[in-house]
This record gives sequence, C-alpha cells and structure tokens, in this order.
Amino acid sequence: MTRPPIALVTRLDAPAERAWRDHLAAALPDEDIICFADMDSGQRAAADIAIIANPDPASLALLPNLRWCHSLWAGVERLVAELPADAPPIVRLVDPELSRVMAEAVLAWAFYLHRDMPAYARQQKARQWRQLPYRPPWEKTVGVLGLGELGVAASRVLQQAGFAVEGWSRSAKGLPGMVCHHGPDGLGALLGRCDIIVCLLPLTPQTRGLLNADLLARVKAGAGLINFGRGAVLVTDDVLAALDDGRLSHAVLDVFEVEPLPPDSPLWGHPAVTVLPHVSAPTSPHTAAAVVGANIAAYRSDGRLPPVVDRQRGY
Ligand code: NAP
Repeated sequence: MTRPPIALVTRLDAPAERAWRDHLAAALPDEDIICFADMDSGQRAAADIAIIANPDPASLALLPNLRWCHSLWAGVERLVAELPADAPPIVRLVDPELSRVMAEAVLAWAFYLHRDMPAYARQQKARQWRQLPYRPPWEKTVGVLGLGELGVAASRVLQQAGFAVEGWSRSAKGLPGMVCHHGPDGLGALLGRCDIIVCLLPLTPQTRGLLNADLLARVKAGAGLINFGRGAVLVTDDVLAALDDGRLSHAVLDVFEVEPLPPDSPLWGHPAVTVLPHVSAPTSPHTAAAVVGANIAAYRSDGRLPPVVDRQRGY
C-alpha cells in the first residue's frame, strides 16, 4: 500500500523551504514529502502528516485529513495563537543538539557576566585601569527560569562550571544538585537570591509580561539578566528602569517582542544591554530533520506520537 504524502507547510521563502524539504527527504527516504504549494488536490486530500514552520493557517485548513503536525521549531506560541483549537495535534521540535547549543550560549553569556566583561568594556572606553574583585562561580547563584528541555540542559552545564544553580518551573521538580522552586510564590523567592537570572520560559498567557517592575523590584541588587526564551516575557520599559537604577547590572537579550529589533528601540544604545539577533540556539536543519524523521518513522511503525503541545497550557 502506498503511503500518503507528507505536506511541508511553511512561511519560509521558496529556497529555504526547498532546503528543508531536501534535509527531510534525506532523513525520511521512504516518504514522499511535498511542499504545500506543489501539491495537487488529491495529494492535499491524502496527506495525513504535515511538517510545519509557522504555516499560514489557511493552508493547513486545505489539508482535511491531517492526523498531526510536526513543527520544525521549538517555540510554539505563534502556532498556539494562530491555529484553531480543533487543529490537529502539534508535536514541537525537541532536539538534543538544540539544547546543547542553547546550554553553550547560556554558559558563554553567564561567564561574560560572571567575569565582569561589561564593566571592563566600560573601563576600557574610559582608559581606566581598575581590577575588580574576583569571586569564584560557586559563590554565585544562577537562577534558571523554565526547567524544560533547554532549562535543564543549561542548568547542567552551569552546574558543571561550578555555579550554584537554582531553577523555577510551573510544576514542582527535583533535579540533582539544585534547588528547584515552582509556582508564582517560588519566583519571588528565587529572584532575591540570584546573581544571574537566565530566562528560558516559553511565551504563554501566564508568562507574557512576567518580568515586570513588581518582580524586578525583588531581584538581588546588581544581578545580571539573560533572556534567551521569548522577548515578551520581559516588560522592556521595566527592565530599562531596573538597569537605569542599578537593580540590574546588565541584560543580555537575544529575543524581543518585535524581531528584528526596531532601529529606534532604546535597547540598541543602552550601555548596560547586549543585543543579540536571536542567535542563542539556531535550529540545525541536519539534526532537526533527523529528529522529525525519527518521530515520523516511529509513528508509521506503531502509531504513537511524541508528547504533543498542550493548547490550554500554551506550550
Ligand atoms: P519546554 O521544554 O516546554 O519547557 C518550558 C519550561 O517552562 C517548563 O519547565 C515549564 O514548567 C516552564 N513554564 C512554562 N510556563 C510557566 C509558568 N507559567 N511558570 C513557571 N514555569 C513555567 O520548553 P524548552 O524546549 O525548554 O524551550 C523554552 C523556550 O525557549 C521555547 O518555548 C522558545 O520560546 C525558546 N527558544 C528560544 C531559542 C532561541 O534561539 N533564543 C531557541 C529555541 C527555543 P513545567 O516543567 O512545570 O511544565
């Protein structure tokens, strides 16, 4: 029996979409993966799986027999916002290589803050020769907000580097060697203890605007902030106010409410802000296609899906 085709539905430009199709075809040599625009009506009617990258919901609606969709991206807030509640189940990308790359970025920027790079850069500009006191990493607490795939991977490398690591999640967790906080009360308690705050939360109705003036008033004086999750989890004006009054010493921001960050954003020129263009953990088409391929192969063999996005929860 011939297998139904798999639809590739994205809002990428045509060359980028074709490149993904080639990676996916290499990972799934027994499947017929067709870009949505190239499918005839019979193929659209037959497709039972879609591989998606923030697709136009109107395109997905033209695939009436989908059983599930596999997203090429780890973040799903746009899918949750745009797809109708009765859309097929969504499996998001969980790629160990993406987690490794994110953990590497968190470690790199945690060391940047830990070794006072922002202060030394300012001193160099002022031609100032001044040695700041050194404290070893185990005397510094890094708080990781979000203990999912990325947060746990980042916590591990931070622990291996010697930092005291504490974490925060929605549900209670026990992770070796670290204090885990959870729920709304847990966050205030954690923020007051952290020298460096690392945000790896998904964007949901509960996390949108979470790091606002009220919570920032509770951070340990002079803490550094790293946001590699989603921009809208922070209230930008409140972060700028916390930087201006010294409650936060420096912010490393990779994600923003509007991307690319608009040229008139005050973040670009702020002396205590590092702006990164959403590069902390780029998706590798090679490893991502292998993950998607393995999930689809498992489904074909036993009909089971990996964990799907909880639309109510938002991640
Ligand atoms: P994940 O596995 O779904 O984990 C999400 C974590 O956040 C979980 O620990 C969850 O708690 C916690 N959480 C969610 N809502 C919460 C709330 N209201 N209060 C407290 N904790 C809450 O996600 P992931 O794979 O680690 O990815 C996290 C995010 O990183 C993605 O959603 C995406 O936006 C972002 N990302 C950024 C880049 C980049 O390049 N900058 C790349 C990839 C992903 P529970 O464990 O209790 O459920």
